[in-house]
Amino acid sequence: MDQITKNSTPNSPSDKSKTQTSIFSLLLELYLKPPSEHEVLLDAALHLLSKYGSRFNASDTLSLLPEDVKIANLNGFFTSRMRHAASAIREEDIRSKLEAARFVQVEERLANAKQRSFVVTDLKMCPVCHKRLGQSVISIFPEGIAVHYGCAKKYRR
Ligand SMILES: [Zn+2]
Repeated sequence: MDQITKNSTPNSPSDKSKTQTSIFSLLLELYLKPPSEHEVLLDAALHLLSKYGSRFNASDTLSLLPEDVKIANLNGFFTSRMRHAASAIREEDIRSKLEAARFVQVEERLANAKQRSFVVTDLKMCPVCHKRLGQSVISIFPEGIAVHYGCAKKYRR
């Protein structure tokens, strides 16, 4: 039962785009290889290709087209595909720049964290519970005050 539900409802984005792609391909096939009593709708097919070029697999599409189609008629198809590819490249470029910026930020924070050191002596006391810091895990406030980790959690609440 689960399996049937899963297969009949494409809910992930890739499933959705795959379904859309196959619907577009099906329509194109109907235009170009119609059942015998219907005529080929080349103009409609070319219009579909120029409008939704990125949805089609290029080699499958070219093999469906009649051999006498002029390359000029496929301008729209190729333009649409190139536009889509260019925007995907731009998006990827922006994403990688954002990732690089985030990486630099994390490195800076790590370097800052490494620079901060704190010496705990036997005499240092926790200002929250007034017990010695000792060997316990400690938390350091931005002002440089060390407290027990547990006390810091209580203090912040
Ligand atoms: Zn404490």
